[in-house]
Amino acid sequence: MVVILGAGLAGLSAAYHLSDRDYVLIERESEVGGLCRSQRHDGFVFDFTGHLLHLRDPSIRDWVLKLLPDGYRQLHRSAWIHSHDTLTPYPFQANTAGLPLEVRLECLLGFIAAMSHQTAERQGIPEPQPLIDGLPFMTVCPPPQAGEPNFLDWIMSTFGEGFAKHFFIPYNEKLWRRKLSAVTGDWVSWSIPRPELADVLRGAITRSGKVYGYNPQFLYPAAGGIDHLPRSLAAHIPENSMRLECAAVEISAAKRRVTLANGETLTGEFILSSLPLTVLAKITTDMPYDLKAAAADLDHVSIRAVNLGVRGEPVHADAQWVYFPEASAPFHRIGLPTALTPTMAPSGHHSLVAEISFRPEDDPGPEASLEQTVSSLLRCGFLRSRDDIVTSKVVDIPLAYVVFDKRRREVLPELMRWFVQNGIVPMGRYGTWDYLAMEDSLRHGREVAAWIGSQTV
Ligand SMILES: Cc1cc2nc3c(=O)[nH]c(=O)nc-3n(C[C@H](O)[C@H](O)[C@H](O)COP(=O)(O)OP(=O)(O)OC[C@H]3O[C@@H](n4cnc5c(N)ncnc54)[C@H](O)[C@@H]3O)c2cc1C
Repeated sequence: MVVILGAGLAGLSAAYHLSDRDYVLIERESEVGGLCRSQRHDGFVFDFTGHLLHLRDPSIRDWVLKLLPDGYRQLHRSAWIHSHDTLTPYPFQANTAGLPLEVRLECLLGFIAAMSHQTAERQGIPEPQPLIDGLPFMTVCPPPQAGEPNFLDWIMSTFGEGFAKHFFIPYNEKLWRRKLSAVTGDWVSWSIPRPELADVLRGAITRSGKVYGYNPQFLYPAAGGIDHLPRSLAAHIPENSMRLECAAVEISAAKRRVTLANGETLTGEFILSSLPLTVLAKITTDMPYDLKAAAADLDHVSIRAVNLGVRGEPVHADAQWVYFPEASAPFHRIGLPTALTPTMAPSGHHSLVAEISFRPEDDPGPEASLEQTVSSLLRCGFLRSRDDIVTSKVVDIPLAYVVFDKRRREVLPELMRWFVQNGIVPMGRYGTWDYLAMEDSLRHGREVAAWIGSQTV
């Protein structure tokens, strides 16, 4: 038997692809989906902040489209940045035309200076390396070498001082809640568009309308709620192969045995785990002490989603999400779910979701976050009046973004290898302690299932 821990997208995908094996899928919550769930509240649909489907792998795309029973909407990105009391299109570095002249000048001069000083620094970030034969998704960069550029170095050498000052540093410090020199340079630089000088110049003079980046188009379930995807996956899993409200509390690697919160034990030839790697290490009783201690060093930030149901039409009709780099707003991003599909709110209403990143030691508390969010939305014009708010729901995602720091690259390879050698395969966003999209978690489940098929037991 294969024991699969966690019924988020990675666990569901593994179960789906293991259909000819004996398996059991174990989930702590009363419903499947993990982060890819939706909550229905007073007629509004609130996801765990915006969950948009960017599907690059054609085989995953075909599969997901078949899974969305009530269809999907194909959307063109409408993302914006709120800066200097104005809205400018995403990405900031190619769209400064609406900003004050001195800001544009600082950005342009800084960009040109960075271009002329570009050194080996820009090339000095290593590529992630595969860790285990047959598990291509399990990759990590080698431990940082002296002189390797950190995330701040990368920003400065790629975009220059002006863009760093007006967007990249304040935005990313809000998200990561630390100095960017403590974040390693391998932090998803692929996802940050790097326009040519001509585009930066054009964007400082006029709105060109040119699209950049990895997500200019995406999909979203037409019926409203990203949970349509995990629910549809779960429909392929026999009832007796899935256990909900059943947390794994202890694992013996030597015995390949999982103990559940109700005291029951399950033994498998393999254990697949999408539990956070930190949790997996904590509950694995026979793991070497130094590895357990190393796992405890892995760092993350939490996200508080402040969801508001609002009477009337949205102030900015087509905006899907907006970045807020400036310190005056407590959130780094807001989403406008009804721009994805109108079914996210009752007729004549819309909704807003503000994302606030925090570390436990600087948590302002849910009530303060709600009040600060409402005041800030009124100030920047995204809310017309406090009286228009018909409902609110504050939801915390305790483990939202894993932090890419030096320690992560030092400890991940040893941790991953130890688990796989002991028959426990970590997978998914938090299982592999990575920055992953839904597509990646689906792919992990599929690849782990194929790997199991290739093992002689
Ligand atoms: C703020 C935010 C926004 C995002 N936006 C997007 C987006 O726009 N597009 C996109 O593609 N991706 C997005 N993502 C990423 C996406 O949510 C994840 O990649 C994906 O949902 C992760 O699936 P998973 O199965 O790997 O992990 P999870 O969803 O975390 O699943 C793990 C499961 O394990 C269960 N579990 C935990 N502990 C136990 C235990 N002890 N016993 C049993 N079960 C347990 C959990 O309840 C959960 O169901 C976003 C993520 C965040 C945080």
